[in-house]
Amino acid sequence: MIWLHASAPGKPALGQACNGCGVCCAAEPCPVARVFLWQFKGSCRALEWHADVQQYRCGMLLQAASYVRWLPRGWQSWFAKRVRRWIAAGTACDSDASAAAAISTTNSGE
Ligand code: SF4
Ligand code: SF4
Repeated sequence: MIWLHASAPGKPALGQACNGCGVCCAAEPCPVARVFLWQFKGSCRALEWHADVQQYRCGMLLQAASYVRWLPRGWQSWFAKRVRRWIAAGTACDSDASAAAAISTTNSGE
């Protein structure tokens, strides 16, 4: 079971253009998260919801120093270039996970 924003786009098929649905990163951490965040299961804590574009984004690409404490802020753009290559950001969807919507009955008060 993974939790995603209700407005997140549906997951495209494997090989289609990435639409920022967040399914892959909510299902399990990628190698970047495993190495730099020491996160080995669960939804990646660097996965960010961006309401302005109604999509998920990788926080390790956008603001890695917020997640990796030892990384100087001045190194973020250098680091982001490497992360972009490591996770193949902006390319086709490489996740074969399937996602089916479920309705939450929890009243969060929002
Ligand atoms: S790679 Fe696929 S599953 Fe991951 S965010 Fe992009 S479209 Fe969604
Ligand atoms: S580090 Fe980025 S690409 Fe990797 S799982 Fe986390 S949010 Fe996704």
